Amino acid sequence: MTQAPVAQAPAENPHDNALEQLNAVADRLGLDEGMREVLRHCKREFTTHFPVQMDDGSIRVFTGYRIHHNEARGPVKGGLRYSLNVSLDEVRALAMWMTWKCAVAGLPYGGAKGGVVVDPRALSKRELERLTRRFAAEIGLLIGPDEDVPAPDMGTDAQVMAWIMDTYSMIHGHSTPAVVTGKPVTIGGSSGRIEATGRGVTFVAQEACRARGRQLAGARVAVQGFGNVGSVAAKLLDEAGAKIVAVSDTNGGIYAEDGLGDIGALLARKHEAGLIPETHAGAHITNEELLELPVDILVPAALEGQIHGGNAARIRAPMIIEAANGPTTPEADRILAAKGTYIVPDILANAGGVIVSYFEWVQDLQSFFWEEDEVNQKLQRIIRRAFREVEEIYDAGGVTMREAAYMLAVRRVVEATEVRGIFP
Ligand code: NAD
Repeated sequence: MTQAPVAQAPAENPHDNALEQLNAVADRLGLDEGMREVLRHCKREFTTHFPVQMDDGSIRVFTGYRIHHNEARGPVKGGLRYSLNVSLDEVRALAMWMTWKCAVAGLPYGGAKGGVVVDPRALSKRELERLTRRFAAEIGLLIGPDEDVPAPDMGTDAQVMAWIMDTYSMIHGHSTPAVVTGKPVTIGGSSGRIEATGRGVTFVAQEACRARGRQLAGARVAVQGFGNVGSVAAKLLDEAGAKIVAVSDTNGGIYAEDGLGDIGALLARKHEAGLIPETHAGAHITNEELLELPVDILVPAALEGQIHGGNAARIRAPMIIEAANGPTTPEADRILAAKGTYIVPDILANAGGVIVSYFEWVQDLQSFFWEEDEVNQKLQRIIRRAFREVEEIYDAGGVTMREAAYMLAVRRVVEATEVRGIFP
């Protein structure tokens, strides 16, 4: 398991930011008030306070959420986060962003998200299993292959998904692999799923460089967050010829002007130690310093709200590829747009994870599994298509890449809502 963040309040309320982003695109698309109301609200919001027996026999009560934002385009899809920062508003925002992300990628899904307020590193493996199984039973009313299909996010991994799949299967009396994605391959996971988000980030970086007339080869890249997404993105960007000059995690980061060298070896050492080894080549820097480095490409791959009104003016990278969800606040967006920074928004840049989750779900439903090459090729095709559809709107002028992606996504959700009609 990759580490979950330490307890710290995100700089701004992510739900307010998500609503602000939606309002801006609703104005641009001229949506009427009724449709805005539909899109603004999460359809279902489930909160549970549930007991878990700890190893020492004591009982602790944890709080968890599962939220469905919109299901006009299909069953809802979205990750489960284990972190002390999890809150109702954070989950609402993340669920809404999932709706737009699935729509941008053209996947037949709506958006959902969930989480438990817990630091998974503070629990033993048995405690984590009991917590996960109990939470899976609590959200069992909502999840299912045709209803809501969770996946890993910060602080959760393939093992957590396996426990959820097993709990759901025990309750229903038969194995149901399609109830979650991001599972181990031995129980119906997809080849290529673990790397999918980072691989998608790399394809998007290649597309972004092409669109801007730049070369990815030799580009200096800083990556904030060295978990599932950030570490794979760093490794694959390195393999694609980019020069990774800085990476960071909760402890801070390391920076070497001429590149950090063998990223695969750094990753292996990080897997052993749990954190980026301080002994690796490079000067120690803070997370704030990493964001402000003079690099060609900045890849935020940790938390939301990292690039905000307070530091946006100091961000020097001309290109930002948003591997994390919601790393840039609307205020920062305005400052960066005025500076001409090219931002590939989260709902496009990190869609690789949900795209391969979709492949996993399809493979589970068919009980027929694909080779990793096939998975990676299909991922590349879908994410490139999404990039070019967004680029077409961007190229027409007058909008940022984020606004273009939102226009594409919201338009698709509106179309689905209109053609289905309002029940009854
Ligand atoms: P993870 O738990 O594997 O890794 C998170 C990383 O961020 C860790 O290295 C952690 O140390 C670091 N981190 C946490 N707080 C930090 C802080 N304050 N400053 C700097 N670093 C910090 O999580 P992940 O799955 O890699 O997810 C990272 C981001 O990508 C999240 O925003 C998540 O929602 C998003 N995302 C994940 C997936 C996926 O498939 N896992 C898909 C799409 C988007």
